[in-house]
Amino acid sequence: MKELFLIKLGEMVLKGQNRAAFDALLLKTIRRRLYPLGEFDVRYAQSTVYVIPKDESCDMDKAQEKLEKIFGIVAFTRAAAAEKELSSICDTATEYLATALSAAKSFKVESKRADKSFPLTSLELSREVGAAILRKFHHLKVDVHHPDLTVRAEVRDFGAYLHTDALPGAGGMPSGTGGKAAVLISGGIDSPVAAWMMARRGVELVPIHFASPPYTSERAEQKVVELLEKVAAYCGPMKMRTVSITHIQEEILQKCPEELFTVIMRRFMVRLSNKIAQDEDCGALITGESLGQVASQTMQAIRCTDAVAELPVFRPLIGTDKAEIVALAHRIGTYEISIEPYEDCCTVFTPRHPRTKPPVFVAEKAEQALEIDALVAEALETVKITPIRIK
Ligand code: ATP
Ligand code: MG
Repeated sequence: MKELFLIKLGEMVLKGQNRAAFDALLLKTIRRRLYPLGEFDVRYAQSTVYVIPKDESCDMDKAQEKLEKIFGIVAFTRAAAAEKELSSICDTATEYLATALSAAKSFKVESKRADKSFPLTSLELSREVGAAILRKFHHLKVDVHHPDLTVRAEVRDFGAYLHTDALPGAGGMPSGTGGKAAVLISGGIDSPVAAWMMARRGVELVPIHFASPPYTSERAEQKVVELLEKVAAYCGPMKMRTVSITHIQEEILQKCPEELFTVIMRRFMVRLSNKIAQDEDCGALITGESLGQVASQTMQAIRCTDAVAELPVFRPLIGTDKAEIVALAHRIGTYEISIEPYEDCCTVFTPRHPRTKPPVFVAEKAEQALEIDALVAEALETVKITPIRIK
C-alpha cells in the first residue's frame, strides 16, 4: 500500500495573476524541506499538491512534521493510494484505516469523485465502502451526524485516495511572497512571535538583535539564535545581525534625563534598524510591541519611536493580550526558550521611573546632548552576521 500527502493551499488560491509564481515558490519550498528525508515526487494538479514518496526509504513521519511548518499550506492529509476500482478502494480503506476503525465506535464514509468517468456516483461509492467496512469491523455503527471517524474516499485523475480528516497546516502565504522586512528581535516572548506572524504572511525576515557587551553575555545572544531557529523551521534560513549598543546606552545614561532613557534608546534602535533594513532592501521594520504592555509601548512612546522610522513599522501584536502571545509562543515552540533568564540590553540600564508619555519634542531636545550620527555610525561598525539554520 502506498502512502502519500495531499495538500490544500490557503489564500494563495485567490492570487489571480501571481498565482503561478506563488505555486512555484511553494513547490520549491516543499521540495527543499523534504530533500533530506528521501526522494519525493512533488507536483501540483486539480488544486492539490501531491507529495508522493518514490520508495520505502522516505520518512513519512518526519515529512509530516516538515509539512506542518510550511507557510502557504492550509491543511493536508496523509492518505493511502488505491487503484480506481471498487475492490481496491474497499480493501485499502479497511487495511489502511484499520487502527482508527478499531478504535472508533461509529463512522461514516464521505466520497468525492473528481474523475467523472468513474462508474459509481459519490453516494454509491460511500455506500459500498461503508458496507465493506461493516463486513470487517462488526463493532462499528454508521452515524452520519456525529461519527467518531469519517472515512474519506476521493477518486481523482491519478488514482483513488483513502484518508480521514485533514491535518491543519501552518496557513499564511509561502515564504518570500510578502516582501522583506527587518525584525527587531530580543530574547523575550513577544518579538519571536511577531517575527513568526509576519513570516506567515510570506515576509522574508532579516533579524536584528541589539546587545550590550560586556553587560549582556554570549549566552544571551545564543538564546536569540535558538529562538530564531524555531522561527526558521517555518520560514527557512535567515541571517541575523547583532549590533552592540553599549556605547550608545552609556552616552544616554550620562547625558540625558534618566526618565527618557528607554525611549531614546528605542529611537536609536530604530535609527540603526533603518540603515540595516535599507542596506538589505527591506520594505518595513517589525517589532513585538503590544499597546500599553510597558512604558515604552504607550501610544505616545510609540509615536516617539516612529518619528525616527524611515520605513513603515509593523507591530503584529499591537492589539493582542499577553495570554494570546504566550499561547502562540507555545505553538511555535519559542516559549520555553524565551523564559530562560538571560539579561537583555533593555533591562541592563532600565530607569526606575520611565516617562510613559514622552512628547516627541522632549525626546528630540534631550538628544541634542548626543552625537547621533557618529554614535549610529560607530554602532554599525559592530554589526556581526550569524546564519540561522533550520534545525
Ligand atoms: P519582547 O518580549 O519581544 O522582548 P518586550 O515586551 O520585552 O518584548 P520591549 O523590551 O519594550 O518589550 O521591546 C519591545 C520591542 O522592541 C521588542 O518586541 C523587540 O521588537 C524590540 N526589542 C527590544 N529589545 C531588543 C533587543 N535587544 N534587540 C532587538 N530588538 C529589541
Ligand atoms: Mg524585551
